[in-house]
Amino acid sequence: MIVNNLSEIINNDFYVIIIGSGPAGISTALELEKNNIKSLILEAGGKETDSDSSLFLKGEVVGGEYPDLSSTRLRQFGGTSGHWGGNCNPMIKEDLVSWPISLSDLDEYSSQAMKILNLREDFFNEKFSKNLNLYNLVWSNVRFGEKYFQHIQKSKYIFLSLNTTFLNFNGQDKKINSITCFKNNNFYQLKSKFYILCCGGIENSRLMLWSKEKNKSLFNDNLPIGKYYMNHPAYSIGEGVMVHEKYVSYFSKNTIKNKPLITCKNEIYFSANKEFLTKNNILNSGIYLNFKVAWKYNSIFKQLRCVAPKYFKNIYENLKAQKVYEINIETMQEQKPDKDNYINLSSDFDPLNTPLSKIFWKRSLSEIKSARLIAEELGKIFVDEDIGRIALNKHLYNDSEEYGYSAGNHQLGGTRIGSYENDSVVDKNLKVHNIENLFVNGSSVFRTGGHCHPTYTIVKLSLRLANYLKNYRI
Ligand SMILES: Cc1cc2nc3c(=O)[nH]c(=O)nc-3n(C[C@H](O)[C@H](O)[C@H](O)COP(=O)(O)OP(=O)(O)OC[C@H]3O[C@@H](n4cnc5c(N)ncnc54)[C@H](O)[C@@H]3O)c2cc1C
Repeated sequence: MIVNNLSEIINNDFYVIIIGSGPAGISTALELEKNNIKSLILEAGGKETDSDSSLFLKGEVVGGEYPDLSSTRLRQFGGTSGHWGGNCNPMIKEDLVSWPISLSDLDEYSSQAMKILNLREDFFNEKFSKNLNLYNLVWSNVRFGEKYFQHIQKSKYIFLSLNTTFLNFNGQDKKINSITCFKNNNFYQLKSKFYILCCGGIENSRLMLWSKEKNKSLFNDNLPIGKYYMNHPAYSIGEGVMVHEKYVSYFSKNTIKNKPLITCKNEIYFSANKEFLTKNNILNSGIYLNFKVAWKYNSIFKQLRCVAPKYFKNIYENLKAQKVYEINIETMQEQKPDKDNYINLSSDFDPLNTPLSKIFWKRSLSEIKSARLIAEELGKIFVDEDIGRIALNKHLYNDSEEYGYSAGNHQLGGTRIGSYENDSVVDKNLKVHNIENLFVNGSSVFRTGGHCHPTYTIVKLSLRLANYLKNYRI
């Protein structure tokens, strides 16, 4: 049901108020609805984004090269899924080692999450060589705003108020009593039993920090709100060539038969296994290969003729017969949770007088080492099996080299999950430590980020949270 006038529902008895209507907020409301539980979603944006959005989303980043904060998030119904890439893959067991929940706690919700995201293909993660695994990415065509608007419009259990900006939490004695929000030029105080903050990887920290600033006794002082902010740096690390038949035959020798990926029609990606990461003391990196049929006059063949003339001679006939593929190599990297990477409040304000975000974020040399070692490992297989040749960019060997290394589009950490309040913000059920009725959901709760795309995991966390709430009593 769409709520146009907040005064009409101010006395309604909502079990939950969900703040934010991205994948996290909507997935939670859908699951509560299945259990006939009423929720109210407050969304700052409208059905579409508008030009004022950037005044709320902009901010400052100190440290490494970082995309414009206002371009990486969307303030509209459906949240950032309005322009996401739709790539999905699950985190693996090793990614969650330091979390207070295990992979099986999330896997319980895999098939439901796949339905929400319209995922029709299975995920796989298989051994490719002694040190590398091969994964697939499954693509979701879901824009949450488009898929779920009509459903919510007709729902008896989900109430949605658009153009409603949450400002801060009000409360005392370890409890949130109400929230303040702004709609149609009016301020409102809304109440419910539970509150879930689902405003995205950066906003969750910004809004909690601002509530704390306004009411210093609301949260315990030692909660590390905004701390351990992470990203998935993503950038190009090299290029290469490959003879298709040899690549397929290598796949067939290994266990990876009958997978559509060996046709080279898709992007595929590799990452290192646990033994390789431990031996080299590195974080993980996804190494993505994008294929296209090679054109024989391309510059990569001129280079190959100089640096590997024998190999070039070997593949020349294949090249003429268009059996050679050109490869672009990209990486998406795991970042270490670091206390010095954090979200804070800026001294500049948005139009409703909430301070904007100021993020301190820098890259680390261990990330570059991780991409280099994993890509070199792939290069060795290419040479040993005569599949092809890859060339890695100079910056992987010389940190002072100029290159386009930037943060990616995934924002992780800031309200991280954990068992202890001096080192985490939410507990294993996503409840803020020491506050009995406030929950936070989204990639801000990620304690470590792995190198996988986050949204599939966010949807599973949302389903788990809704199931927890239906039985939770205060
Ligand atoms: C260009 C791009 C490509 C991406 N590609 C992928 C991909 O391929 N795979 C993947 O897994 N992830 C991808 N992501 C990340 C993905 O979009 C996010 O993980 C996902 O949208 C997070 O969902 P969320 O609900 O936590 O937050 P969001 O989707 O950001 O939703 C937050 C919602 O909260 C609302 N909100 C914010 N502040 C307030 C407030 N004060 N009051 C009320 N409402 C508020 C916002 O308007 C928004 O609707 C991509 C991101 C970008 C930018």
